[in-house]
Amino acid sequence: MEVISTKKRLAEVLDPLRKEGKTIGLVPTMGALHAGHASLVKRSVAENDVTVVSVFVNPTQFNDKKDLENYPRDVEADEKLLSALNATYAFIPSVEEMYPEKDTRVFSYPPIDTVMEGARRPGHFNGVCQIVSKLFYAVQPTRAYFGEKDFQQIAVVKAMVKDLGIPVQIVPCPIVRQSDGLALSSRNALLSDDERKLALNISQTLIKSLTYAKDHTVSETHDFVVNTLNAIDGLEVQYYEIVDGNSLQDVSSWDDSDYIVGCITVFCGHIPVRLIDNIKYKG
Ligand code: AMP
Repeated sequence: MEVISTKKRLAEVLDPLRKEGKTIGLVPTMGALHAGHASLVKRSVAENDVTVVSVFVNPTQFNDKKDLENYPRDVEADEKLLSALNATYAFIPSVEEMYPEKDTRVFSYPPIDTVMEGARRPGHFNGVCQIVSKLFYAVQPTRAYFGEKDFQQIAVVKAMVKDLGIPVQIVPCPIVRQSDGLALSSRNALLSDDERKLALNISQTLIKSLTYAKDHTVSETHDFVVNTLNAIDGLEVQYYEIVDGNSLQDVSSWDDSDYIVGCITVFCGHIPVRLIDNIKYKG
């Protein structure tokens, strides 16, 4: 595996491969890699001739400076893991390399990017579109792999790809959880052992809500999840929305759609770590 830090070198290695008709898989990440990321890389390696994994903590998608400063980083371990997974290239650029000038582009895909995370993290999806579009231009991948843990992100990226007419196939990949159910996240590294135990309630409550939903309304199921988690000291639900999986708009009845997903964000612990998760009720 070659570690690449410039777009120029990336073009040097990828242009000839593209001309030979090789397929290129891209896995965009912010590093501090775990088994969730690894599942995306494995899938890309299995489905493409060449796999590029980008590791870049993208400043423009952080609306909170502290969050950016505290974001976990471990480039050495990332390189080791990517090499063991047989990624072809790790693209690890500097901020200056990706943003030689301030990116003033504005991406807006309402209502998909205005609900849930979009409403609570102003500018977040704009930053995601800025970096993902730059990566798509630099790598020109055949396929790009995204985790369903960031459920709304996939919908926003799909909207951007359609808008810009970028010829890439977006491949959604299922959430990878630890054996006890906790969704893997780089941010889990910020949790103490006790906070990790608290965080476990999130997936457990979402899973319980699948049974609860069978004989309760959408609104009752929503309240069940929010009230169960908020009753636990150290957890605070920022939002729980039960939405149509394509439009991301709230549903009011289980009959409203064939594809229904519950998306949650919870603050966990005293210096709160913001954790997201989601569960599929239908589809
Ligand atoms: P991040 O480094 O957090 O920006 O994540 C990079 C990619 O990995 C995104 O597409 C995430 O959705 C995906 N990802 C992160 N955690 C998981 C997980 N537990 N299961 C599946 N995909 C994940």
